[in-house]
Amino acid sequence: MNPVRTLILAAAGNDAVRRVVATAPVSRDVVRRFVAGETTADAIDAAGRLIGDGLRVTLDHLGEDTTDHDTAERTVRAYLELLDQLHAVGLAADAEVSVKLSAVGLHLGETLALDNASRVCAAAEQAGTTVTLDMEDHTTTDATLRVLAELRRHWPSVGAVLQAYLRRTLDDVRDLADTRVRLCKGAYAEPPSVAYTDPHEVDLNYVRCANALLAGSGYPMFATHDPRLIEIVGERARWYGKSVEDFEFQLLHGVRPGEQRHLAAEGHVVRVYVPYGDQWYGYLMRRLAERPANVAFFLRSLVTR
Ligand code: FAD
Repeated sequence: MNPVRTLILAAAGNDAVRRVVATAPVSRDVVRRFVAGETTADAIDAAGRLIGDGLRVTLDHLGEDTTDHDTAERTVRAYLELLDQLHAVGLAADAEVSVKLSAVGLHLGETLALDNASRVCAAAEQAGTTVTLDMEDHTTTDATLRVLAELRRHWPSVGAVLQAYLRRTLDDVRDLADTRVRLCKGAYAEPPSVAYTDPHEVDLNYVRCANALLAGSGYPMFATHDPRLIEIVGERARWYGKSVEDFEFQLLHGVRPGEQRHLAAEGHVVRVYVPYGDQWYGYLMRRLAERPANVAFFLRSLVTR
């Protein structure tokens, strides 16, 4: 893995660095590029604007690695309020939610995470939409897939996320290819024993997994900003006889916004991942790690203030 990327992802787990970055006033400006705001109203506003532009959204209430019951409960309530509001303003048909199991209590126990995720799924159903379970680092993959399987007994449309950098993923894709699956490259610092570390190998595995998803009868969601992969997925989808309604592209809020609109104008379903909330530190560090230019942007804003 690129050493700068390794360093930034290490900082994502370092409490001292977190305190410095989170309290620097400048961080707010940088955060604003990637995060829609702190409140439910900010999230609803951002969703409304994107949906008005012909895009769909998946909303993520920021937070991860929750270690106490109160925080897990607050996270669940934030999702319930969000889903209620999405329904009230008539956006639920074009807006789903993304949930990290670690935010709703996975580290406190799988049963708690399942119970809490079930409450969010029930609220999503009531609102007229659904949920996708984000995938976190590889130590949580098996637990996340177990919880997913349980949730799908009641809510078959709950989405899975699989990461092309993991060596196991092609097998997981084959198991889940008849369901709703988001395929991404993967955003965490993973050891070579479980993950491809050469970006070229990750891309190759992304294409292998994309083919396996397109060969299935499920609904693939291709989460990438990589122009080459977007083109390949489009071509392979045509080869498999898929129509534009049979799959979607997903991109992150603030990343390649022009491409988001360009793909939608071509007739593709495009969903934008919109994070909101005040627990933005880990999310921001992963976005900085993905692209050295983002670090330069961050450092420049520190010195030009
Ligand atoms: P890259 O090779 O990283 O990037 C290709 C090009 O895209 C870059 O050259 C650049 O032009 C642009 N680009 C990419 N990232 C950025 C950025 N941060 N800022 C500016 N430009 C950028 N990962 C998980 O591990 N679990 C998840 O649940 C998960 N969910 C995701 C959901 C969505 C909708 C998306 C889009 C990504 C998600 N990811 C998730 C992150 C993903 O794994 C990658 O880390 C991220 O998308 C970067 O990979 P890439 O495919 O865009 O390709």
